[in-house]
Amino acid sequence: MDPRRRVPRTDAVLEDPRLRAAEDRLGRATVKAAVVAAQQRARQGELAPAAVADAAVAALPVTAGGLRPVLNATGVVLHTNLGRAALSPAAAEAIVAASGYTDVELDLGTGRRARRGRGTMAALAAAVPDAGEVHVVNNGAAALVLAATVLAAGREIVVSRGEMVEIGDGFRLPDLLESTGARLREVGTTNRTSAADYAAAIGPRTGFVLKVHPSNFVVRGFTSAAGIAELTGLGVPVVADIGSGLLRPDPLLPDEPDAAGTLRAGADLVVASGDKLLGGPQAGLLLGDADLVERLRRHPLARALRVDKLTLAALAATLGGPVTPTWAALRADPETLRSRTQRLRDQVGGDAEVVASVAVVGGGGAPELTLASWSLSLPAGYAESLRTGDPPVLGRVERGRLLLDLRCVPPSADAEVARAVLAVAGGPSAGPGR
Ligand SMILES: *Cc1c(COP(=O)(O)O)cnc(C)c1O
Repeated sequence: MDPRRRVPRTDAVLEDPRLRAAEDRLGRATVKAAVVAAQQRARQGELAPAAVADAAVAALPVTAGGLRPVLNATGVVLHTNLGRAALSPAAAEAIVAASGYTDVELDLGTGRRARRGRGTMAALAAAVPDAGEVHVVNNGAAALVLAATVLAAGREIVVSRGEMVEIGDGFRLPDLLESTGARLREVGTTNRTSAADYAAAIGPRTGFVLKVHPSNFVVRGFTSAAGIAELTGLGVPVVADIGSGLLRPDPLLPDEPDAAGTLRAGADLVVASGDKLLGGPQAGLLLGDADLVERLRRHPLARALRVDKLTLAALAATLGGPVTPTWAALRADPETLRSRTQRLRDQVGGDAEVVASVAVVGGGGAPELTLASWSLSLPAGYAESLRTGDPPVLGRVERGRLLLDLRCVPPSADAEVARAVLAVAGGPSAGPGR
């Protein structure tokens, strides 16, 4: 008999109560796709026809979002490939609360249209009182594009040769800036640029002077750079891309510039990212001179770069809320980490060891800062099975061992890490790398 005949029909499989319940959560199309894939496997003989519903249930995504939640045991706090900052519970709640209709552009008191996201803007302005005005766009790159378009399209941006940064995945700030029609006027050298270098390049074609924080590299040795304060008397705006988005100085991160300090030093406009050290949603923050920010805000391009209500909600909750997971991970107490890791070791046994390790900020911030940490060390062969497990657990391989650093794992998820490791140890692939 043709095995195709024995594979249950889609409608019949969808009657399964587990799949009907999943339809409410994930939508019919997603559930149906899982059923169709399972039927296909049954037709190819990979699956018993009676197991189609079970296989479809097993293959359902955890969420409808198309992104799988993962446990970040890499010891990299802002991991670009894992979405940089993990949002605080307050920010996550704010997103849910804003997901229906909201007063994002309406003043409920007057019933009139109001400035979009004004609550978020007020929170940002309150966090940085040195800023005359603030605005929020899609990300740091968008903030730079907006500034370059409005202030320097068809004109020149004066920038040091030591600050021509590649931010990652092949994207380079000089290319980004020139894509707006601005021309870069490079000054100084890779290792040394003086205020006089900038001054000599200023002319009628100058749009602004740009200072870029080299957030993902350090040049050492015979070096010097002009500070913001030295560049303020040149008669053109000074725009500072501080990168990682600290709003105020942080004693843990002495080499990272902050928005308040940069404005006080005399910058006319500060550009920063929302999802780096600030620990919020992806966003580009623009803070500075009121007239300047207002010009950016009213430019047609601003409409193309505007942020969603969900971002506005998460950003406000991050600014006003309790400490973020990023902040907490950067300050995790090594002794607590050691005892959590020891407990994990006791649970998984085998050839796992507790070892001292080093965590980093990652994500283009504080490249030199190392954080003393502890890790569970496992044979490297565990890496793939843990990564492809459920939930996926991401560690990092160092000198032939897989290290699991709990610094960025919520303590409430420690048991899940233990279960994942035990599942690999007891599974068919227990052998690799041992
Ligand atoms: C990260 C970074 C950017 C880009 O910001 P995104 O929010 O990733 O677009 C720009 N400049 C500097 C210095 C950065 O560190």
